[in-house]
Amino acid sequence: MATDIRSRLRDLTGQLEEKHSLTEKEYAFLIENRDEETARDLASRAVKIRRQIYGNDVFTRGLIEISNICRNNCYYCGIRRDNKNCSRYRLTPEEIFDCAREGYGLGFRTFVLQGGEDAWFTDERLCEIVSRLKDSFPDAAVTLSMGERSRESYQRLAEAGADRYLLRHETADEEHYGRLHPPEMSFRNRMDCLKELRAAGYQVGAGFMVGSPYQTAAHLAEDLKFIETFKPDMCGIGPFIPHHETPFAGFEQGSLELTCFLLSVIRLIHPPVLLPATTALGTIHPTGRELGILAGANVVMPNLSPLGRRKQYELYDGKICTGDESAQCVECLDARMRRIGYRLVKERGDIRK
Ligand code: SAM
Repeated sequence: MATDIRSRLRDLTGQLEEKHSLTEKEYAFLIENRDEETARDLASRAVKIRRQIYGNDVFTRGLIEISNICRNNCYYCGIRRDNKNCSRYRLTPEEIFDCAREGYGLGFRTFVLQGGEDAWFTDERLCEIVSRLKDSFPDAAVTLSMGERSRESYQRLAEAGADRYLLRHETADEEHYGRLHPPEMSFRNRMDCLKELRAAGYQVGAGFMVGSPYQTAAHLAEDLKFIETFKPDMCGIGPFIPHHETPFAGFEQGSLELTCFLLSVIRLIHPPVLLPATTALGTIHPTGRELGILAGANVVMPNLSPLGRRKQYELYDGKICTGDESAQCVECLDARMRRIGYRLVKERGDIRK
């Protein structure tokens, strides 16, 4: 590699650590010209800065996949409306509560209720579920990840006690958004939802897939600029993985290397951000989640869904952790984190600003 590119890469990594900001052009340059040395440099700066804030703690969030019924038809997603070969389920409020109780018994103090956009979960029903969880487990945080809803809905759910909301923006480029979603879905609405969630008082999670179809370095640079300006409390990024029953079945999966590279960059952009080493990352590589932590992530999300349902929440092919009991999932993650010198922490794990 030409020495001027190398020295430019070095300048940019230093600048990122110092100023937590680059221009979109610089982000794109960093991505397009990245090499092993730059990745190592960024990872060591990212780990250093994360250690100053979180030490060796890795936060856990107990994930409960409450429904795979969805009115949306995202081209990448295995639970999209038009997948007629998806066997659909919805947990009852009692089942959701049982999962949380089991998780609470295992020490979890954060529950993430995630699902497709399932109309059964009206505000009334969801508020009731949230209030019951908050009444029963007052020291636990309740996070929702139920897609796009109205401003009033977000407000009502916050009043019922929901603390956090995860809604990946998926891509910060409107044209690219249009290539990942059918015309009835709107980039503007997704972005407005994120603003409304923040206004309603939630800790907000955004995020995107790495290596989604048609994604370019310029798109990723827009994602990074969005993270830099919006400063979400959490940022979920994971590789795109094709699902055989979707229009994107024939596309290549996103790479481990680029995902880890971007985890380091995002840590440096927004040092306190809660950054999960996702299940998708663990799916494309046997130690993907560990590599994510070593690149700068600090959250893992073990599955607390009922064992019999886990395979049905198949967003992409080959999803891991569908055959283990919740307790086994936690033990496995605990051992994985210890092996790389980290400590799994089950408390609420709020962002440390
Ligand atoms: N319905 C909610 C929403 O839209 O935010 C939550 C559920 S949605 C299935 C959760 C996330 O899964 C999406 O934000 C998307 O980034 C991710 N996802 C879906 N299909 C995927 C795939 N094929 N590969 C990787 N991630 C995928």
